[in-house]
Amino acid sequence: MTADTTEEAFLSTASSFRTLATEAFSSRTAEPAVAGQRTLRSSISCVGIGLHTGAAIRLSIRPAPADTGIVFQRTDIAASPLPARYDSVVETRLSTVIGESPQSGNRVATIEHMMSALHGRGIDNALILVDGPELPVLDGSSADFLFLLDCAGTTESDEPRREIEILKTVRVANGDAFAVLRPHARSGLSLEMTIDFPAAAIGRQKLSLDLDESAFRHDLAFSRTFTERGEIDALHRAGLALGGSLDNAIVVDGVNVLNPTGLRARDEFVRHKLLDAVGDLYLAGARLRGRFIGHKSGHHLNNQLLRTLFADRSAWRWAQKRASGSLQPRRVAA
Ligand SMILES: [Zn+2]
Repeated sequence: MTADTTEEAFLSTASSFRTLATEAFSSRTAEPAVAGQRTLRSSISCVGIGLHTGAAIRLSIRPAPADTGIVFQRTDIAASPLPARYDSVVETRLSTVIGESPQSGNRVATIEHMMSALHGRGIDNALILVDGPELPVLDGSSADFLFLLDCAGTTESDEPRREIEILKTVRVANGDAFAVLRPHARSGLSLEMTIDFPAAAIGRQKLSLDLDESAFRHDLAFSRTFTERGEIDALHRAGLALGGSLDNAIVVDGVNVLNPTGLRARDEFVRHKLLDAVGDLYLAGARLRGRFIGHKSGHHLNNQLLRTLFADRSAWRWAQKRASGSLQPRRVAA
């Protein structure tokens, strides 16, 4: 696909998204002092290794018009744009993968750390071009993605930013693991995660935080993905994690952390699970206003939680975010 046709396909999709968004907000009335939607001021690119393929991947992040949302586009194959939404998720085994369909080759894996950075940095609209089947893993955290977004800068449109307000508690579980979304008085998203791993280097860790740009930047963005040494051989035999190394993941063996430079925080593991949840929950298509509670929750339960939420039209509603940080709830057409 040439650059021109890529751009045309994207603009056509962006246009249809805008039409849908305009219809969804047809009952909205103009109101001052709402926060505007944010996109990048300029495009920015990097090249990095894919965690699972081990191949060099080029990533470009471009500005996009208001009401586009986050859209991924493969440039190495003739492919349709892939909206970053919970119902585009086709696999959650080792990372969050979006695709045209479960069988389609038009898929992009390991999007969660990029989605988390976009959420944390407050980016509403962006086009993510990638010339392979997965995003570069970079250092295994969101820090490098956040750095790219900081370098590109941001710009705000006149179109108001929308949030999804949780009205009813929804819960999904798998064994003793569970994930919950419930209403919360505070503006924005409040998060709590508990993990419990047999490896003594990880053990039981718990963390709560109210998500804003500062909390994301200082408390979550730096935390890296992790694995246990015993899992690595099995992944390699399955042809996975070929690009994995101590440069892009924490590897633990019992009580030991094998990375020569150690951990970036004592509880880096639970911080990373929250980072993953922030990225996975941004697949709602907008920021959530509510409280998330995860217990051993990963990509699968995070996605099931969104599917359960959106299956019940009475469990959520659109809200506009005021620039002051307060929210003006608005009932809109479904
Ligand atoms: Zn992760």
